Amino acid sequence: VEKTAEVVIIGGGGAGLAAAESAYENGAKSVILLEKAATLGGNTIRAGGAYNAVNPEKQKAQGIEDSIEKHIQQTYEGGHKVGNMELIKVLCNNAYDGVTWLEGLGLQWQDKIGSVVGSMWQRSNQTVAPLGTGYIETLSKAATAKGCEILLDTKANELIIENGRVVGVKAEGPDSILTVKAEKGVIMATGGYAANPEMVRQYLSDGVYTKDNLPADVVSTNAPGIVGDGIKMGEAIGAQLIDMQHIQLLPMPSDRFGPSINVEHSFFINKEGKRFVKEDGARDEICLATFEQKDGQYFMINDSKIIPENRKTLSGEDLNNLIEKGLVVEANSLDELAEKIGVPADALKKTTETFNSYVASKSDADFGRKVWGEKIDKAPFYATLRFPALHHTMGGLKINTKTEVLDKNDQPIPGLYAAGEVTGGIHGANRLGGNAIADIIVFGRIAGATVMGK
Ligand code: ADP
Repeated sequence: VEKTAEVVIIGGGGAGLAAAESAYENGAKSVILLEKAATLGGNTIRAGGAYNAVNPEKQKAQGIEDSIEKHIQQTYEGGHKVGNMELIKVLCNNAYDGVTWLEGLGLQWQDKIGSVVGSMWQRSNQTVAPLGTGYIETLSKAATAKGCEILLDTKANELIIENGRVVGVKAEGPDSILTVKAEKGVIMATGGYAANPEMVRQYLSDGVYTKDNLPADVVSTNAPGIVGDGIKMGEAIGAQLIDMQHIQLLPMPSDRFGPSINVEHSFFINKEGKRFVKEDGARDEICLATFEQKDGQYFMINDSKIIPENRKTLSGEDLNNLIEKGLVVEANSLDELAEKIGVPADALKKTTETFNSYVASKSDADFGRKVWGEKIDKAPFYATLRFPALHHTMGGLKINTKTEVLDKNDQPIPGLYAAGEVTGGIHGANRLGGNAIADIIVFGRIAGATVMGK
């Protein structure tokens, strides 16, 4: 079977769908999107959903001081000064415009700005819809309404090159082999490879995680199809890869977000009932510290102040359901909580008391935490067991600020664009929590514009 469109997009996660909508907004008449899974969404739909962007109005209402410059600096420094400053500037300068763009397409935002774990600052915008579902629903609805043809169960295998230009894709659908021709270009949006532990290990060298410190039994938060297809397809036609040794572990597998994915109103304890890290630290900092604790695990402790009347968690999940599944433990006192999770009650009570004194003085004599919420003192109390899981791969196809994929001489490969986790260079050696959603929206939009010559 042969098909043709102006724009062909590989991957139906947040980046691919943002690119599809953007291509139409920039004049495309026909877009075909190939998604190898049976449903859209990829890692985006299972993400916590936090979107980092300086949001002047909402942050002002909460008394949060912030600036785009600060977002740029924290992204660069949080990434251990490895990321490409030009790409970081594009990310941070355009993040808020992405927030309003999505709102214009019908996405609803929560009122409060938070600080998702590893974000390093209170600038995480959060959708009303649970997890990442709001992004996928909003964008797929918008793009489909404009005519985007979405082919599910259709796996792209190979880019077609003619006279040095990418002109299409070879793919296999549920019952046919497909050749999909792209008149203007192909946008690679296949995500990373954190569901492919062999590929992760193959590239590990001198990053935060190495072949030595990565636990052999590490699990992944990713959708099963996030195995590096796009990186391999790009590499096969001469694309340059960057930062492939840098991976991110999330200190919580996706089924263990618990009552809150934010840093405020929570602290972390090890199985001795003691704090061991600053909760507002970078994700790699928390994960490396967790490796040193008993069983390589910790508990996030919350109280009922953050539980709304409808018992929805911050990521929009049903708390009762999480408690029933045993993923969150609820107790009427700290003594009862300690008993239920098997940590010494005296230690937990003492840690809580000390922590609450730090909340009052907004200073942490033990670990130097800076982001504060309220005291944790209102029963019932909650504990969520967490541990590091393979989450994000920072490396991938090297792009420029227009999302053109570069070859080994840093020259754009005509007809090939990339956006989202398949690309490398933005997040350096450690991605800030909440920067991935900003990345897929900002660069997905740019890819849709660039492919249309805008
Ligand atoms: P991003 O956040 O960068 O958008 P996601 O993980 O959300 O990344 O989405 C990537 C999508 O690409 C997933 O839905 C995944 O199933 C899809 N995908 C990966 N490899 C292929 C492939 N070879 N052909 C088609 N779709 C693919």
